[in-house]
Amino acid sequence: MMAKRVKVIMDFDGTLTDEALQAEELAAIAKRMLAKDILHVSVRDIRKAYEQIRKKILSCPHQFHWEVNGLPATYAYEGAYLLNTSIVQEIVRSKPAYMRAVRKLFPSDGLDPVTRCTNHLFHQGTYAVHPHFLDGVRELLIKLIEHPLIDPVIMTNSETRKIKKNLRKLRIGQCGAKHHFCHELEILGDTRQYHMDPEWNHFFQHHLQGPIQVLPVNEHFSVDLRRPVYFKALRRILDQGYNKVVVVADGFSLAGALPLAMGLRFILKKTDLTPVWTEEYVSSHPNGKVVREIRELKQQLLSLVE
Ligand SMILES: [Mg+2]
Repeated sequence: MMAKRVKVIMDFDGTLTDEALQAEELAAIAKRMLAKDILHVSVRDIRKAYEQIRKKILSCPHQFHWEVNGLPATYAYEGAYLLNTSIVQEIVRSKPAYMRAVRKLFPSDGLDPVTRCTNHLFHQGTYAVHPHFLDGVRELLIKLIEHPLIDPVIMTNSETRKIKKNLRKLRIGQCGAKHHFCHELEILGDTRQYHMDPEWNHFFQHHLQGPIQVLPVNEHFSVDLRRPVYFKALRRILDQGYNKVVVVADGFSLAGALPLAMGLRFILKKTDLTPVWTEEYVSSHPNGKVVREIRELKQQLLSLVE
């Protein structure tokens, strides 16, 4: 079968859903699970630590990251779920006894123990959270699914089972799944855009700086590009021979910087948390666009096949 012309790679939470709203429910679950199942301390202690660390991060956000394998995967405040994950990470790191408990329960397996712990809380927690889709998402997805020249895929670090469960609310299914829906699309869950590898030896060409592994954004901000898992996932799609490949996401460091460095298009879907510097970088990049709402996103995507 000949490939369609445009591949649209879409992030899920924050891009198609109201992540800030969902994050409140997620945080409550994460605090409870962290206290009871992992650290064996009172939920009250964890709630107190959570609020303190949240304030600390938001008072100097450029100093805090979600760190994976010792490298910054994203700034802590680029999205509501990422902020929750970063807070949990800082709580765990705040006491040697907490670190010991986490190392014991989540030994390294290519990902460090703290990341494995925060992933566990994230996957268990978000599966239980009720999805709040943004206005117009069902219409957008159906338009993309039905379009003869567009091949949409949802690519996310959430697990496929969660995406499947939540899309069911829109009466949209997963291609190839047992239960058939009138409208179905491809889901690439657990893609791990956050998987950092300090040993990765790939370099990217920067128009001013030459070969780089860390993208300089401005004097305060930069994004580490050592993401071999995400790189491979994008390469696999590029090898399928599309005329255009576009990535849509609400997080720049996590999902947007690498595709731009690889020469792909990136559309930043703004949220209330989007930092100004990410918006400025993407909107001034020749392959970048910033959109505020789903209607605008639909127009942008359809303009690629006009
Ligand atoms: Mg997102």
